[in-house]
Amino acid sequence: MKPGLAKRDYYEILGVDRDADADQVKKAYRRLAVQHHPDKNPGDKSAEEKFKEATEAYEILKDDEKRRTYDQFGHAGLSGAGAGPGAYGGANGFDLSDALRAFMRDFGGGGGAFDEMFGATGRGRGHAGPSGGADLKVRLKLSLEEIASGTEKKLRIKHLVHCTECAGSGQTKGSKKTACLQCGGVGEVRQVTRSIFGQFVNISSCPRCHGAGEIVEKPCVQCRGDGRIEGSSTISVKIPAGVSAGNYISVSGAGHAGPRGGPSGDAIVLIEETPHESFERHGDDILYALPISFSQAALGDSVIVPTLNGSVKLTVPAGTQSGKLLRLRGKGITHLRGFGSGDQLVQVIVWTPTGLTSDEKALLDKFGKLHGGQPPKADRSFFEKLRSTFKG
Ligand SMILES: [Zn+2]
Ligand SMILES: [Zn+2]
Repeated sequence: MKPGLAKRDYYEILGVDRDADADQVKKAYRRLAVQHHPDKNPGDKSAEEKFKEATEAYEILKDDEKRRTYDQFGHAGLSGAGAGPGAYGGANGFDLSDALRAFMRDFGGGGGAFDEMFGATGRGRGHAGPSGGADLKVRLKLSLEEIASGTEKKLRIKHLVHCTECAGSGQTKGSKKTACLQCGGVGEVRQVTRSIFGQFVNISSCPRCHGAGEIVEKPCVQCRGDGRIEGSSTISVKIPAGVSAGNYISVSGAGHAGPRGGPSGDAIVLIEETPHESFERHGDDILYALPISFSQAALGDSVIVPTLNGSVKLTVPAGTQSGKLLRLRGKGITHLRGFGSGDQLVQVIVWTPTGLTSDEKALLDKFGKLHGGQPPKADRSFFEKLRSTFKG
């Protein structure tokens, strides 16, 4: 959410009435979340935004206290002091990993939206037991050539992996476990904060047992009972054609391992675009500048121009003006969604000869006298033509 941009109404986002009950809110959210989930829409920025937006709305409307505050004070009430870190109303909204976690918490595993999306072979996240590992953000620079037709990349990532000594359990072989006294074996602690907006309950992982609910007598020496050690892996990431900087692809289970055998988080691969030597990207179109000589422009010529996948022949018609855009259809970037590709636009730049010999000067002088034509004035239509070429 950009600062200054009006936030959409939470009820409108979920498409429910203001008096919708908890069940209707949950159903509406579930439907939207499954539809826009990033794992189902890799690299789709607008789906990601919709997923985050819906999750934020759901987080507020499913909570009676927050919903009352929102009904009374709107968005301002939630971003106000005292709403606390769990209230998601802040100026920054919340980020993707918050949204993914919220979704997994209520719908992950054990049949439900998760299985619906991926078949019954889910990662088993969101179940009760040891908490999951954190997501890992990785940046990936891609060339325009790679973006144009899609690619597959192998990435070496450093992350926490399950301990090799104890296989992630965190305990030395034969060690006993006792229930954690701080959380009574539940693994969670509840903290109640009061503010002028009412009472908020924050549930967090127990700091003593880190969510496991039990304490190990003899912790593993290698991982000091955490069940994880630093490691690295190579992951393979499929990148669809047409991605842009800021898109991301999540690789399930490639993030940090969870403590004491807990499920791993995801690797979130953020796409970056390396600027190209000779091409400029405009959406899915590619702009290329082609210098030609004055005689080529006047008489016309056939030239070879590079594209993102190999060179092609281009006809420069006789009488081509400097600045003219010639279109190579379908030679741009493959559309991320739907079929087809953008175009390559070749902008012709007529090069004025310099360092003329006396013979050449004499010839041009003769031509000037013979032709005698004056260039027309550049009027509005010249610029309008330029602009319309870009719109395709
Ligand atoms: Zn260990
Ligand atoms: Zn505990």
